[in-house]
Amino acid sequence: MHPRNTGEYAPPNFKAIAHREIEAILISHAHQDHIGTLPVGMRRFPGARIFMTEATAEVGSVLLHNSVNVMRRQREEIGEMSYPLFTHREIDRASERWRSCPMRQRISIAGERAAQREKDTLTFEFFDAGHVLGSTGLMLRAKGQTVFYTGDVNFDDQTIMQAAVFPEEQIDVLIMECTRGDHAKPEGWTRASEERRLAEALATAFERDACLLIPVFALGKTQEILAMLYKFRRQRLLPEFPIYIGGLSSKFTDIYDRRTHTTRRQLPRLKLMREAAPFILNDETVRDTAVRGGRVYVLSSGMMIPKTLSSVFARRIIENPQHSIFFVGYANPESPAGLLREAGQGGEVALDPDKPPQRIRCNIEQFQFSAHATRESLIDFAKKVSPKKILLVHGDLPAVEWMRTTLSSELSDSEVIVPTPGVEVEL
Ligand SMILES: [Zn+2]
Ligand SMILES: [Zn+2]
Repeated sequence: MHPRNTGEYAPPNFKAIAHREIEAILISHAHQDHIGTLPVGMRRFPGARIFMTEATAEVGSVLLHNSVNVMRRQREEIGEMSYPLFTHREIDRASERWRSCPMRQRISIAGERAAQREKDTLTFEFFDAGHVLGSTGLMLRAKGQTVFYTGDVNFDDQTIMQAAVFPEEQIDVLIMECTRGDHAKPEGWTRASEERRLAEALATAFERDACLLIPVFALGKTQEILAMLYKFRRQRLLPEFPIYIGGLSSKFTDIYDRRTHTTRRQLPRLKLMREAAPFILNDETVRDTAVRGGRVYVLSSGMMIPKTLSSVFARRIIENPQHSIFFVGYANPESPAGLLREAGQGGEVALDPDKPPQRIRCNIEQFQFSAHATRESLIDFAKKVSPKKILLVHGDLPAVEWMRTTLSSELSDSEVIVPTPGVEVEL
């Protein structure tokens, strides 16, 4: 689904495939933009088989049920009458049709484990994408030809997630994300040094008795930040401090904890809900909780969409120079988080269109803990698998453009394609 569009404009553009039989839908991971309108797709294509990893299925079901609640509220708040796009009951019925698949196993689209001799059968295989819990890239094979879709990928270790393990053999067609295509990897950046910089910034903020808001995605970034905070405490870089997260984030964190033994990850025994021991806020308590120094609020949404916990909380602290907002990942430039970042201290921002704009007096800092691959590592991957065709997806225009130009000059034998939605591409 389109993360910035609402209502009936949010689901994918199904027009071009409306009159076709769809045999299967493969889900790479459970972020909103990848699974958020799956029930709509399933309604359109009732004969399609649905495949994803077990972790994606578990997270996805929680996320979709939460979406119904959010959409019901938005129907009231923004008058979006097409909401909810689906119901709790429909998700329950739909998720019974999801088929959970392990990583690194060739499975035929017909739903069976592929026999070796069946060379002509269309098969897929999931590869660990190192992006969030359960995330995958996927390889399609048929008639000796291969298509590989990266999904959202990270080729570097994060604090919890380990780097992607992707195929290295030659691939015929590569469909590649390019989220970070418009940013060069900063000189000398390492995750470890960035973690240290965050710990120091937290210590400085605590010295002036600040409270900290870290806006994050509920899935992935929340758990990565909790793991970092846990490490800071364990290394005694910081004194004890209370952490707050939202209800949805706590459900995803529970799933991370339950799946420690089945996930390739760092800190394999760390149970975040027990060790980081966050307090849980909801829509009511976030308004009633006193803003006190020395507390860390790790709240979604990451883009600070109006009425979400991070937006409501930011509105409460933004005019107070004592407090801090730390950005730790990607925010679309047009999102409230993007606007706040752009305006900076001293600027003015309207985080909620229903409320008057506010002067930004709080301290604002930025850190780089993206869950997406650097553009340099994406180029390296493309070189390794030397595809005949490369399709660029999942990037803002400048990101896609940089990738297109760079790949065209560095892989002169590959055809680089920026697909137009709704227009068929010959693979
Ligand atoms: Zn993602
Ligand atoms: Zn995505």
